[in-house]
Amino acid sequence: MDVKVHECSPDKRKPIPTDESSLGFGKIFSDHFFTMKYHEDRGWHDPVVEPYRTISLDPTALCLHYGQLIFEGLKAYRGRQGEIYLFRPMENIGRMNASAQRLCMPTVDPELFFEAIKKLVILDREWIPKGKGTSLYIRPTMIATEAALGVHAANEYLFFIVVGPVGAYYAEGFSPTKIYVSEDYVRAVKGGIGYCKAAGNYAASLYASKIAMEKGYTQVLWLDAVERKYVEEVGTSNIFFLIADELITPPLAGSILPGVTRDSVIRMAGSWGIRVSERPLSMDEILAALAAGTLTEVFASGTAAIVSPVGQMFYKGMDYIINDGKIGPLTQKLYHEILQIQYGEKEDPFGWRIRID
Ligand SMILES: *Cc1c(COP(=O)(O)O)cnc(C)c1O
Repeated sequence: MDVKVHECSPDKRKPIPTDESSLGFGKIFSDHFFTMKYHEDRGWHDPVVEPYRTISLDPTALCLHYGQLIFEGLKAYRGRQGEIYLFRPMENIGRMNASAQRLCMPTVDPELFFEAIKKLVILDREWIPKGKGTSLYIRPTMIATEAALGVHAANEYLFFIVVGPVGAYYAEGFSPTKIYVSEDYVRAVKGGIGYCKAAGNYAASLYASKIAMEKGYTQVLWLDAVERKYVEEVGTSNIFFLIADELITPPLAGSILPGVTRDSVIRMAGSWGIRVSERPLSMDEILAALAAGTLTEVFASGTAAIVSPVGQMFYKGMDYIINDGKIGPLTQKLYHEILQIQYGEKEDPFGWRIRID
């Protein structure tokens, strides 16, 4: 199947933002998007890059009622000579298909998926910002469109991809976050859909995030749903703790999103000879390490920020300061090295970067 291209007419094009310092995240979208439809009897059909537009849905479209809605998030980066790179896109494509399977949605041929991203990004290449740390955010999404109210897996779907310029996450330098350990609410449970980028997971997280923000914290640190003892993730990022030269992150056991950045951090730190463990880590162990002075760095990982240092943690009525509230050397080095690979500024020994222009 070939991806068709219907170009937007010149008079309908939107102005490309010139002030890259005020891009923010997820507010501006380019001139085109990709769409493809699915019907049980026909499979996927009509893949096309077309002018950006609103979509219309029947009010009973199943995604609006029972949550068959999955998505992905990745970025296109512009190199010094204007060349365009993606970072491990096949990982995002594979993860979207894993989410699709869990929610009884149809998978997409990875080659076609990749071709769709490539055609869209190349057509809208002028929208990729140039400033340091800026990028073009890519949001593939799949929704159930069948009009029906009985609870069942839909027989019709829409797959679309929108792209838009996003600003540098650290425009004002690193600012360590303050996190709030939620004891009352959980994000996901083993056996559920925590490992999928499925809309429902984010709806489930909003209330605890609101409480944390009202108390002055940036993010929620989620604990496991059963014992409320082991750390899982922070906000919509994975989490790492450096304790006595061991870099620890919770294992992928079903309730945690398998982050592409998480995997990159594990492999990169491992290649530097750091002992990296994917193992359960309890709040008791964290507090003991804090008391002993062996917990030296905590950071979140995700596509948005690469890594984000944690400077303070609230748990059971107490605030704990980590590394004097400053970014640690390992966090700093991981950020710098991954960023340079993404923007084509250094060798990529892992084969993570793909040039698409
Ligand atoms: C997207 C996401 C992550 C990070 O994944 P990356 O592939 O590194 O961007 C972590 N946790 C949650 C809940 C997420 O939605």
